[in-house]
Amino acid sequence: MSTQVFLQANDKFAASFVKPDRSSFKNVIIVQCMDPRINPYDQLGLKTIDAITIRNAGCSAKEAIRSIIVAQHLVGVLGEIAIFHHKDCGMTKGTTNQIREIVKKANPGRADIAATGTA
Ligand SMILES: [Zn+2]
Repeated sequence: MSTQVFLQANDKFAASFVKPDRSSFKNVIIVQCMDPRINPYDQLGLKTIDAITIRNAGCSAKEAIRSIIVAQHLVGVLGEIAIFHHKDCGMTKGTTNQIREIVKKANPGRADIAATGTA
């Protein structure tokens, strides 16, 4: 995929975008892994307008907390927070220390970068 393909797709999407009816919104925040094999809407029987979804590597609630706070306090979603892990998650195949070492090797001499986001 190239940026040009994304830009064309976005232009097409924006040209036909209709502000969705929020009446089916279920007042729920879903935290899920970023694994592209999983479509959270299909998995949970939802439409995109039904829930706020937050996805990250391994379904980390700790990493999702900023977005959860925004959803609750700026958007007003005060219902349940549902966290869905899955089988065969890539995050079960490595450790935080392994990730830290990968980042250190990619950024020699930059301990500040190596420590970012892996605490
Ligand atoms: Zn996963």
